[in-house]
Amino acid sequence: MSTFKAIVIEKAEEGAKPATRAALTSFDDANLMDGDVTVRIGYSTINYKDGLAVTGKAPVVRRFPMIAGIDFAGTVESSTHPDWKAGDAVVLNGFGLGETHLGAYAEKARVKGDWLVRLPATLSPHDAMAIGTAGYTAMLCVMALERHGVKPADGPVVVTGATGGVGSVAIAILAKLGFTVHAVTGRPQEANYLKLLGAAEIVAREELTGAVRPLAKERWAAGVDTVGSTVLANLLSMTRYGGAVAACGLAGGMDLPTSVAPFILRGVCLLGIDSVMAPIALRRDAWKRLETDLDRAKLAAMTTEIPLSEVPDAARRLLAGEAKGRIVVKIG
Ligand code: NDP
Repeated sequence: MSTFKAIVIEKAEEGAKPATRAALTSFDDANLMDGDVTVRIGYSTINYKDGLAVTGKAPVVRRFPMIAGIDFAGTVESSTHPDWKAGDAVVLNGFGLGETHLGAYAEKARVKGDWLVRLPATLSPHDAMAIGTAGYTAMLCVMALERHGVKPADGPVVVTGATGGVGSVAIAILAKLGFTVHAVTGRPQEANYLKLLGAAEIVAREELTGAVRPLAKERWAAGVDTVGSTVLANLLSMTRYGGAVAACGLAGGMDLPTSVAPFILRGVCLLGIDSVMAPIALRRDAWKRLETDLDRAKLAAMTTEIPLSEVPDAARRLLAGEAKGRIVVKIG
């Protein structure tokens, strides 16, 4: 029997809370799922969804046993897919990895070749996972604002959940593109970190958690929201006439207690961002942009690295709001 190391999520005994358990264990090659490309994984990362899956705080996992981890950078070991051959360096984000398909916290994965993106030429596998799904989603948010026509001259752009993975990368990208960035955070003690990434102003989270008015004073030309709920509702009511908010997250909640006022009286647009099933052409564009529009020194400054064995503890810290920036998981 041939095995490899992996963080495996199993159902816990009936009535236990949480209802699942994650542990580092050996996984039998014979139990890998169908796919036309086998990848030797070098690095993965910890994203918010990984935190939910590994701690069992939300029902992210749809099949048991499941190898956790929604993204990886690795090298093709074998392939029957026409686009890929042994030795190719690849990246995978989403497509159900770590949810319905055995995931990335493992030395090996078997996946569909159609899900893979070539590792951008100027990024190392470690860099690609420092960016990870969080960073690639931040890029998708910025690209959506650009498609809406938002430009630096329009006024400041706000980023919520600023010290988190998506927030940190969004700030760095927007600053590099010449935007004036305001960072909304519940951790004012991280002001220096946020300024280092390019934030011009720090906004206390409390300014966006009060009662939501249909329309409030116009503050921002656009926004990237990773929080949802009351924060997003307030942000919409504070967005300037004709502005847009790219919404990708729910760190503060799944609800959205807003009214139609910002949409019908100020022409504000809410742009939905999904990274998991994003079409492959959009992914390639986003990764290409990440090569040029994200400062590598800032990426390094927001990134820490852990071994596979520390994934459960890091997932717990991330959900407790104790982590900041990006966490890379070294596997190979
Ligand atoms: P992180 O945990 O790294 O960051 C989340 C940040 O949100 C925290 O650092 C904190 O920032 C803020 N936050 C946490 N709890 C609350 C709260 N209760 N109320 C308000 N703010 C809060 O997660 P990621 O950056 O990886 O992901 C952010 C969100 O984006 C998640 O909801 C995730 O599911 C979503 N996401 C969605 C994707 C998609 O395809 N749509 C892809 C990737 C992520 P601070 O302390 O600075 O306020």
